[in-house]
Amino acid sequence: DVTVKRNTDVNDFFEMLSEIGRGKFGTVYLCREKSTGLELAAKLVSVNRRDERRNVEREVEVMRRLRHPRLIQLYDAYDWGKYMCVVLELITGGELFERVIDEDFVLTERACTVFMRQICEGIEFVHRQNILHLDMKPENILCLTKSGNRIKIIDFGLARFYIPEKKLQVLFGTPEFVAPEVVNFDQIGYGTDMWSVGVICYVLLSGLSPFMGETDIETMANVTVAKYDFDDEAFNEISEDAKDFIQKLLVKDKDERLSASASLRHPWLIQSALCTELHVTKTKLKRYVIKKRWAKAVSAVIALKRMGAKFEDVHEEASSKNGE
Ligand code: ATP
Repeated sequence: DVTVKRNTDVNDFFEMLSEIGRGKFGTVYLCREKSTGLELAAKLVSVNRRDERRNVEREVEVMRRLRHPRLIQLYDAYDWGKYMCVVLELITGGELFERVIDEDFVLTERACTVFMRQICEGIEFVHRQNILHLDMKPENILCLTKSGNRIKIIDFGLARFYIPEKKLQVLFGTPEFVAPEVVNFDQIGYGTDMWSVGVICYVLLSGLSPFMGETDIETMANVTVAKYDFDDEAFNEISEDAKDFIQKLLVKDKDERLSASASLRHPWLIQSALCTELHVTKTKLKRYVIKKRWAKAVSAVIALKRMGAKFEDVHEEASSKNGE
């Protein structure tokens, strides 16, 4: 069992090799354990504020309970005062959607059921531990390896322990994937994750985002009315079972949605042989993924500029102090 090692520098035990990812909260590095030579992923988060520290502590607490093959596994955790480091199993296959749009990947409905089934298995385990993930989106579904079809759910940074008697409301997530109760700041529950699973499935099958508007505000307005359709030609070849699966997840009332365990019993996920050969057109999904890549690059540039501006402020302040 992993406990946070206090006042310990992660660099004493792990060698940081290169950056592999960056999120809102931290930077993820490829690292090697000095004593074993094992390659792992290290998420380094600065915890200057008390709430930042609390968030990392919570993420570790959550991950300690989540020992399951469909979920990213916690390896170690370090507390070095201003920084905390969460050492995770390394996943080398990249994001699911990037994998799926690859030229040599043949996307059939059956392949989609294989992925959706694993996502539901992972979430079912999370929910069985009375935990909500609360940040289910394509970016947080990684492929274990470059070639196989196995996936893992990552990023428990927003996850919460769920106590049904206690009112739990949250104000975060990604507008495109959050449920109506999140937008409305109402009580959330297990169904909140299942809504996001429904949106992921809709995008995977069509390359279209069911509630996406021109702005975040517009997207959230679309989510609150929970209206969407399968009218686009992208759904022409999609099976009725698949649409029924989505329809039973994208329900406005969170308690009416399929639970994770019920979703695993849905005909689409058990009789996948019926839709084996149905081909899923990737044109729109490719466009979707490329657009996301651009948005990410642009927000990285904006963040850099903001940092640059701060730098200049500090520099100016220093210069004026020096009487320049
Ligand atoms: P977010 O802004 O999405 O909330 P975050 O700061 O919580 O991000 P993560 O999502 O955990 O950070 O990690 C950021 C990125 O690093 C991921 O999108 C993924 O590409 C990469 N990553 C995270 N964990 C691993 C891992 N174990 N193995 C390989 N890559 C990883």
